Amino acid sequence: MIAAPAVQIKRVERSKLADINLENLPFGKYFTDHMLEVDYDKGKWGTVQIKPYQPLMLEPSLAAIHYGQSIFEGIKAYRLHNGEIAIFRPHSNFQRFNISAERMAMPVVPEEIFIDGMRELINLDRNWVPAKADHSLYIRPFMFASDEVIGVKPSERYKFMIILSPTGPYYTAPMRIYVEEKYVRAVAGGVGYAKAAGNYGGAMLATAEAKRKGYDQVLWTDAHEHKYVQEIGVMNVFFVIGNTAYTPDLGQGTILAGVTRDSAITILREMGLSVEETAISIDRIMDAYKTGDLREVFGTGTAATISYIRELRYKDFVMEFNTDSWKTAPELKNRLNAIREGETEDKHSWLFKI
Ligand SMILES: *Cc1c(COP(=O)(O)O)cnc(C)c1O
Repeated sequence: MIAAPAVQIKRVERSKLADINLENLPFGKYFTDHMLEVDYDKGKWGTVQIKPYQPLMLEPSLAAIHYGQSIFEGIKAYRLHNGEIAIFRPHSNFQRFNISAERMAMPVVPEEIFIDGMRELINLDRNWVPAKADHSLYIRPFMFASDEVIGVKPSERYKFMIILSPTGPYYTAPMRIYVEEKYVRAVAGGVGYAKAAGNYGGAMLATAEAKRKGYDQVLWTDAHEHKYVQEIGVMNVFFVIGNTAYTPDLGQGTILAGVTRDSAITILREMGLSVEETAISIDRIMDAYKTGDLREVFGTGTAATISYIRELRYKDFVMEFNTDSWKTAPELKNRLNAIREGETEDKHSWLFKI
């Protein structure tokens, strides 16, 4: 048992839970009774405060708003059949958070704050973790620059927070994807591997244009040649060709190292497929489609888990898939969900009990 951090707790007088039905909730719209907040100043972190969920009072000169030192994470906790609560692989998100922090010249957040604080917060709001299948508690840790001075330099003050949102199933119909060749998401040497706020704002125009053309999302390609594929929107991407699953490698720093991606690689291997992390050109994908070897294309991420792709369009070439006949992605999804919800043995120790 990890020693509890020094936490100041101020509880709500009345829980909002009585007003909410925890079934079929929309994603990211409702928040639990409490939030975690801790300030960094003069080189050190202050006292962790858990308090009623409430608005922040911030000056208009707040550095994060002007220059974008702002990062986040997305994690899920589940109610297991025996009533226990487990967080899925939070230490992986903790490590990734600090990789993002380093890239954005922000301070490291210690494990006692990120992990122990998260655990304490969820424990306090434990009645908010839905018990229904496919429901979960979405955990959103984030940190932003909190200097109230206009000037382009790393902030001296930061705020780290965690908020919690109970969510229902995130059903996404099989998606139509537009291979993006005009805009880029990430470039070697850039911030693509960080969960930095600006990456998402920077991607919105491309997604909006793809939507206007009738597509759900874009498949990002590399910035130099628009030849190698990167990610689908905010999901990692897998291509099943023959008996091998291919996913772009992380070598260039242009791809977000998804926890779901990593879990999928492990499970796909357990299912008997080989998995290759490598550069994948759009030409290779089209060739495999033409010979009938490209069987399945899917995205992976915490929110939707596994999302099927039913159409991929590159220039005027349209690749269509009958997702009803797929075997690999549905089995991967079932296996992953069974582990997350505690229905099968957790042999990789991915569940972290509260
Ligand atoms: C968060 C994210 C993912 C998925 O990561 P998970 O850890 O699996 O949720 C993939 N790509 C981008 C750009 C992301 O921001």
